[in-house]
Amino acid sequence: MKRLIYEKLKDVYGYASFKQGQQEMVESILQKKDSVAIMPTGGGKSLCYQLPALIFEGTTFVISPLISLMKDQVDTLNAMGVSSTYINSSVSVKEMNNRLKNISEQKYKLVYIAPERLDSEYFMVRLQNIHIPLIAIDEAHCISQWGHDFRPSYMNIYQLISKLPKRPVIAAFTATATDKVEADIIRNLRLQEPTITKTGYARNNLSFSVLKGVHKQDFLQNYLRDRTDESGVIYASTRKEVDQCYENLKKLGFSVEKYHAGLTEKVRKSNQDLFLFDDIKIIVATNAFGMGIDKSNVRFVIHLNLPKNIESYYQEAGRAGRDGESGECILLFSPQDIITQKYLIEQSEKDDNYKAKEYSQLQQMIDYCHTSNCLQQHIVRYFGDQTYDICHKCSNCKDDRKLTDITNDALKVISC
Ligand code: ADP
Ligand code: MG
Repeated sequence: MKRLIYEKLKDVYGYASFKQGQQEMVESILQKKDSVAIMPTGGGKSLCYQLPALIFEGTTFVISPLISLMKDQVDTLNAMGVSSTYINSSVSVKEMNNRLKNISEQKYKLVYIAPERLDSEYFMVRLQNIHIPLIAIDEAHCISQWGHDFRPSYMNIYQLISKLPKRPVIAAFTATATDKVEADIIRNLRLQEPTITKTGYARNNLSFSVLKGVHKQDFLQNYLRDRTDESGVIYASTRKEVDQCYENLKKLGFSVEKYHAGLTEKVRKSNQDLFLFDDIKIIVATNAFGMGIDKSNVRFVIHLNLPKNIESYYQEAGRAGRDGESGECILLFSPQDIITQKYLIEQSEKDDNYKAKEYSQLQQMIDYCHTSNCLQQHIVRYFGDQTYDICHKCSNCKDDRKLTDITNDALKVISC
């Protein structure tokens, strides 16, 4: 089996070796074991389900939450000579029927579907007579209320599985899973003694910083002036702030576009493409931007505001340095943002339990901003890995003002 998978890796993808964790996942799936992979953003999760799909007889289904991502992956696969398609709300009825017909004739190796498709009985029925060896669930944290992007439709995945004449292998993938999310993934998908592959949460090529009390726009200008040839993402928490920051930077002559849910789909797509294809350097965005975005050369991710939890923060910041080269992740902290986040929690129509959970996650995010320990270590521990040492490059590791010296100085002052 090893020879076969290395052959595919080389012939289909053109890669000489696996990234960490990939081979274990591929082998586990090919041995028909349910599998869970918790691998960081950029870790190469897609290959873990695509490669077994190429080897298995029949059609593998991939459940993925983002329409733009599906199209990209399917285009890439078809270009590599792997017949595949996707089914989501962007496909016309005529084309949908065409694809469904091809699906029933088993013309594809891979079919990507949006979880919302599983709400349709019609769709489920169409899958009864085809051979499905594997169902891969991408961004599997969406199945948990403890994740940062819960999608109710993910709860239907098990319905699909249970209605199939033969139970396929189930493989779930995510970059961010605390123990609670991991347990939810296993329980909600009813995984059977899954192989769990964790490659560690640490991203050693990223350096994290928390900056307090800086003037945000001044900081940005100075920072960006020093890096006019680098790509980066600037996250803000509201559309208004995105608009303002964008206008500001545009006026100053930076190569910048913006992205948020208030723009039309066409504009969003076009701005995203400008960024992906390096026609512009900087994108200012709300958290609507980015899930599944595969741009390898993002050199910095700056958060102008406090994110609502560490899961979201790590996912967004983790878009830096996917190529393994260095990346900077900078969070500009101001206490005002805590008030904004609390307001957002209060005015949501969720029940008290849910709100309490959100408050506790927010508090952990605030603690991150105030810790004097290694920031990377703080994050990795949050996700349950206690073994990580320190990164030597975050703003806390590099801060050489020793607490003891300050204490000594303070003592001198007192004793004078
Ligand atoms: P993830 O979904 O884990 O964030 P992707 O599957 O999008 O990551 O892969 C991230 C990048 O790594 C992609 O550009 C992909 O082509 C590349 N990649 C994946 N596997 C390998 C490999 N074995 N060798 C080299 N590059 C790889
Ligand atoms: Mg992915």
